[in-house]
Amino acid sequence: MKLVVALPLVLSSLLSVSSMAKDFDFFYFVQQWPGSFCGTSQGCCFPDTGKPAADFGIHGLWPNYARCQGRQGLAARAMLGEDVAAAVISAAVGRRGKCWPEYCDDGNALRPWAIRDLFKSLEQNWPTLSCKGSGRSFEFWSYEWKKHGTCSNLEQRDYFASALAVKAAHNLTEILAGAGIVPSESERYSVSSVSEAIAQGTGFKANLECNRGADGEAQLFQVYQCVDKEAKQLIDCPLSMPTKCRGDTVKLPVF
Ligand code: AMP
Repeated sequence: MKLVVALPLVLSSLLSVSSMAKDFDFFYFVQQWPGSFCGTSQGCCFPDTGKPAADFGIHGLWPNYARCQGRQGLAARAMLGEDVAAAVISAAVGRRGKCWPEYCDDGNALRPWAIRDLFKSLEQNWPTLSCKGSGRSFEFWSYEWKKHGTCSNLEQRDYFASALAVKAAHNLTEILAGAGIVPSESERYSVSSVSEAIAQGTGFKANLECNRGADGEAQLFQVYQCVDKEAKQLIDCPLSMPTKCRGDTVKLPVF
């Protein structure tokens, strides 16, 4: 097939990725331990509302495919060459990969008015810890909404209310404490004991991500739970994701 004929075909197939982008299979609901976000060599900054509670905070609710979407990328590479394909794929499905949709509607910016009744709860449960922005958690929520929420098929308020409801239904801080896993500078916990506590306490396995503290030690950083497409219930994860914690033990740093 000549390039002149093939180009419109490939482009239209790639553009259809963008309109299909709201089609996904499940959500990753990602929470993070603030002591581990802050306890790295980079540190953190508290939001303008003050130091958050010593509780897991929401990072995001991310639509995800059960299988990565790779076909269009391969076709485009074959026909257009690496650079053009990368540019078009980047516009259609995002730079970091094709395993989830992202930035589905840049015109749909988060409106404070839409989530005004959730502000207090969001400030408690979804605080920013970044030093880069203004210190307003709204900036973090706006970023998460733009990148992930616009692909969720949910209205703005429903998206944030759903994340808060899933968090409230399975309080990770309490679940871990119930298993004797509490923030400590001296204790170390086996990764399997953390996994088991979460599986027992929520009824579903979760994926764990660790990071390294300023001293190089592994710390429990983020917990990935899988949630149905309606953003209501935890589900068994359609994808097996290897635990991103090297080593057998982790710290849960005091916050
Ligand atoms: P995402 O692109 O949704 O995977 O989110 C990654 C971005 O979120 C990175 O820029 C992180 O620095 C930022 N991020 C993660 N946790 C927090 C937090 N608690 N407060 C502010 N930004 C965060």
